Amino acid sequence: MAFQRVDKSANSSLQASSENSYLASRPFAPLAKQVIKMSTENQIIQQEAKGIEVTRPTNLLEILFSQPHKRQSQTIQAKLRIGQPGDKYEPEADKTAYQVMQRIHLPFVSRDMSQPKNRVIQRMTDGNSETEHPKKRTREQNTSDDEHESKRQQLIYPTEVTIKGEKIRVENSEEHKQAREIIERIENDYGIKVNSTIGLESVISHYAQAPQIIKDRVETEYWDVKRLISVEQGLSHYKDILGNNRNSSSRAGIPQEVLSFSSLNYGIDKNLPDTKLDSNTWGEYFDNNSNISLYKPFQTDTHDFPDNLEKQMEATVIHEIAHGLCEYKLQDYWKALAYWLDENTKSEDEDAEYPVTGYGETNASEDLSEAVMYYFTKPDELEAFAPERYELVKKMVKEWKGTN
Ligand SMILES: [Zn+2]
Repeated sequence: MAFQRVDKSANSSLQASSENSYLASRPFAPLAKQVIKMSTENQIIQQEAKGIEVTRPTNLLEILFSQPHKRQSQTIQAKLRIGQPGDKYEPEADKTAYQVMQRIHLPFVSRDMSQPKNRVIQRMTDGNSETEHPKKRTREQNTSDDEHESKRQQLIYPTEVTIKGEKIRVENSEEHKQAREIIERIENDYGIKVNSTIGLESVISHYAQAPQIIKDRVETEYWDVKRLISVEQGLSHYKDILGNNRNSSSRAGIPQEVLSFSSLNYGIDKNLPDTKLDSNTWGEYFDNNSNISLYKPFQTDTHDFPDNLEKQMEATVIHEIAHGLCEYKLQDYWKALAYWLDENTKSEDEDAEYPVTGYGETNASEDLSEAVMYYFTKPDELEAFAPERYELVKKMVKEWKGTN
């Protein structure tokens, strides 16, 4: 069973906009910018998916239409519900709502401006750094080895290196050293391997029904130091129940639920013969392999932390880890919350405390992961918006050290 943190879309987006004059009254000026951003993403998909039918522009548009942004629009609904006008959370809700509004209207603009759209795509073809400096396919790439310090000094940076079998893009010798140290610490302190092959195998086996041509497009992806830092930072919040510390925690004797981290280009949308590459998912936890795979959108999308990609990446790592390390608390969690009848069924009790984000409304597992993510990154907001959830997570974390 896999748990995804997605930035997928929902048909409810349009409904949300028309019901809310707050959204509808915003100006349309920055739309062109948004079109450029979306085109870039689709161009990457286009490059990644060569050989399958998404390469033609008409089908790229179909992808746009078929993948509106569910997670974002849901989050907006949550924020609008809890944020009172003028309170300290309003600016953030306002900003996010504005971004959503742009996305909501994007398909119509694209439809109506076929000529300008082509110009935008062309412009991105000229200016996209990925196009100018294509990333070499990981399966074909011969990378430098990292066996000896002397070799490291001979390298011309930036370059791609291999550390313990993982391919990593480094800017300079300092980053090269840093990357090796992080990978060693993650392994030694937390008992977790950085190993992208495990993630690749996890995706292929989990989405067994996907056609081979789709499976063949899933590939390991280079790490960079920023992403390795986010993994280590995310793991650090769980240090009491990882590696050797786990033996002296409340989780002693129970196998550690996260054992590896992987970097992949894309996951797969559904475990069905009729599926496609998933260009919206940031990360995914595979419980049968105790693996967390991080995908390309993880490297660029900032949803919970606008303009702070480092914090966003750390938060996403925290969310995915919670699917593994905190799953044992899931039943206690939803039973304690009036919002849930069971793991997947809402009570529809309007007086119940809502999940801290719209994405948390997906099911109790996502609710728990979002609450844990907030607990470690924005505890004040969690305590203010969802005090019951705050207390449940706080109690769980304290139990780890046996100090409750
Ligand atoms: Zn999730």
